[in-house]
Amino acid sequence: MPVELSPREILEKLVSFPTVSRDSNLPLIDWVEDYLTGWGIECHRVPNDEGDKASLYAVAGPAVEGGITLSGHTDVVPVDGQDWTVCPPFELTERDGRLYGRGAADMKGFDALAIAATVLAHRSGVRRPLYLALSYDEEVGCTGCVPMVAEMARLLPKPSAVIVGEPSLLQVIDGHKGGSSFHIHVKGVEVHSSIMHTGVSAVMEAAKIVDWANRMNAQNSARPPGPLSEGFVPHWTTVHTGMIRGGTAHNITAGDCWLDISFRVVPDEDYRAWNAALTEFVDDLRTQMQAVSPAADITMEQVFTVPPLAPEHGGAAETLAKALTGRNSCEVVSYGTEAGHFQHHGWSAIVCGPGNIAQAHKPDEYIEIAQFNAGWDMLQRAVRSLTD
Ligand SMILES: [Zn+2]
Repeated sequence: MPVELSPREILEKLVSFPTVSRDSNLPLIDWVEDYLTGWGIECHRVPNDEGDKASLYAVAGPAVEGGITLSGHTDVVPVDGQDWTVCPPFELTERDGRLYGRGAADMKGFDALAIAATVLAHRSGVRRPLYLALSYDEEVGCTGCVPMVAEMARLLPKPSAVIVGEPSLLQVIDGHKGGSSFHIHVKGVEVHSSIMHTGVSAVMEAAKIVDWANRMNAQNSARPPGPLSEGFVPHWTTVHTGMIRGGTAHNITAGDCWLDISFRVVPDEDYRAWNAALTEFVDDLRTQMQAVSPAADITMEQVFTVPPLAPEHGGAAETLAKALTGRNSCEVVSYGTEAGHFQHHGWSAIVCGPGNIAQAHKPDEYIEIAQFNAGWDMLQRAVRSLTD
């Protein structure tokens, strides 16, 4: 039998792996896999195409329906340019009732609790399974979990609930917006601006795409909220350009312009329909540009897509999370999580985890020890619920 580590010891270990999204997470995955297989717990890896990252899921207990899935991501945001004053970012440090370190809140705190809960479930002889699901590349668009969630949905008996432990101060989050993001490259034709009618300005054409986004926002905000969107702030789908760059001189029609367009889509609407609407607008614009010069073009690259989490009022995951946390209300948030991917496969999912999202992604990231302990209480109750 391996030595059983406390949740805190596991957290210390997890924080020590600098699993920034751009880098490999394999050392962390190796460690988790060694620890769990040491207990005789079945683990499965789902590697990425390049082979430098992997998701891992584990099964504690019998392969029957009605289990609980605990989901977390192993990647963290970078620390570049951040001024960490309490400790080196990849070293868990306790101070004033808080545990500091990159990922302490988002979301290695929950990962550590979920790993400890998996061992506890295994040792308690649960009658329904506890599944652990650890992903990569969550911070860069929730993309890494997709093949793992698909494999779990295909191979495992359906659990009654999925808890995605993003930091919510243990509030039960039953809905979030979906979304997608595109890099767009507008290719113009350079001529002297005095004869601009013979060229194509990539900057001025790109501005039409930004204007389309503005018009969609105005249109969406004027509509009343749908039944699944009422709690959201704002309650409509938003379209945003965060970056635009192009052109070389005031008197040359711009040869290139790059911009990004991101959607945050309310659960009442189909995010794929928004992608299609943008594609249609861009296709029309390209046709108009090419009527001036066939050399003009627009290319679009989809960076990510996150399905929304639609509130399932009275659903199994919501009911379980309320029972485990003693709360009787739910919240919705405007950021995406992996819960949308689980729900997309027909698994009832909610977001509920210890720590505060306000501390995520910042220098001196921390989780309150009281939150960490409350999270452990919640997961111990979850394991107990699988023993009856
Ligand atoms: Zn997170």
